[in-house]
Amino acid sequence: MTVKTHKIAAIGGDGIGVEVVDACLEVLDALAERDGGFALETTNFDWSTDRYKRTGEFMPKDGADQLRAFDAILFGAVGAPDVPDHLTLWGLRLSICQPLDQYANVRPTRMLPGITSPLRGVDRTELDWVIVRENSEGEYAGQGGRSHPGLPIEVATDVSIFTRAGVERIIRYAFQLAQKRPRKLLTVVTKSNAQRHGMVLWDQIAAEVAQDFPDVTWDKMLVDAMTVRMVMHPDSLDTIVATNLHADILSDLAAALSGSIGVAPTANLNPERDTPSMFEPIHGSAFDITGKGVANPVATFWTAAMMLEHLGEKPAADRLMAAVESVTADPSLHTPDLGGKATTRAVTDAVIAAIRGRN
Ligand code: ATP
Ligand code: MG
Repeated sequence: MTVKTHKIAAIGGDGIGVEVVDACLEVLDALAERDGGFALETTNFDWSTDRYKRTGEFMPKDGADQLRAFDAILFGAVGAPDVPDHLTLWGLRLSICQPLDQYANVRPTRMLPGITSPLRGVDRTELDWVIVRENSEGEYAGQGGRSHPGLPIEVATDVSIFTRAGVERIIRYAFQLAQKRPRKLLTVVTKSNAQRHGMVLWDQIAAEVAQDFPDVTWDKMLVDAMTVRMVMHPDSLDTIVATNLHADILSDLAAALSGSIGVAPTANLNPERDTPSMFEPIHGSAFDITGKGVANPVATFWTAAMMLEHLGEKPAADRLMAAVESVTADPSLHTPDLGGKATTRAVTDAVIAAIRGRN
């Protein structure tokens, strides 16, 4: 059998990001060994807020270009309490996503076995969504500025950029994804009553692209009404597409509704695959629990399953998710964010044992 080698760039980042990525690399090694059909060649990068404090840069100037040599990127989290969040976000995450044109941020949300939702009475069959977030422009395009600092006429602007090409490609991606899911249901989220340029363009393009997907049922929602629908009628939703800002907020709500931010994964995809995609948990560096050994690694394991699927290793991805689900089903293996007492080490060991078929 030929063994295919995938080159993985691992960027743990800061805080618990490093802890969950280290745990995940152990799990990936066990999977590759069990599968036998592929190998992972991992390179670790120390790009982080620590590096920024030492050198003035989160990553080298050609950092994004260095990543082009890899098949995928596994990312932990970046950020520290004493460095402003906007410096961190632009210093590392967006400086990777934007040049590598990872324009589709995909966030599956469902309740894993054994994990309960804070929504009363909702069961696993009623909450199964994929949120598609536009990841290259919109409100996070970085356009705008400040003038007249300190004066009463000081002005600060953040300009949202919506291009026809950018909106069309993300909406098309969302329709394609909805078409592959059993319910073939898509909700397009905007705020086109109040934001009368870019959001109206979204509505128009959605109606145009929908013509190419007659088998997909779709509807439009305003983002404010969407938060109510997610809580009151979770089973009425399946695939969801929204702008960079709106989907950022909706997906944190979705993560909380599915049980914990500690189990929510995301993938920053370049669907055309001409650059590597990046896989990460949605949570941050969580310095309040760093070093205590209690970070929940499940979000990172789940994103690693998305990475394996993207790399064409579907059987290994399925094996990993089956192992993760067998572990979440056991409350004695829940970390404190899920109300349990388990450690990162215990969860990781249990997932590895399940992969090896010993439980
Ligand atoms: P950021 O500034 O990037 O949002 P953060 O440090 O504020 O990062 P969040 O991801 O917002 O962290 O998480 C908020 C809180 O949720 C954390 O402070 C932590 O207590 C908890 N939390 C987040 N991720 C995990 C995890 N994987 N396991 C356990 N608890 C977590
Ligand atoms: Mg936070």
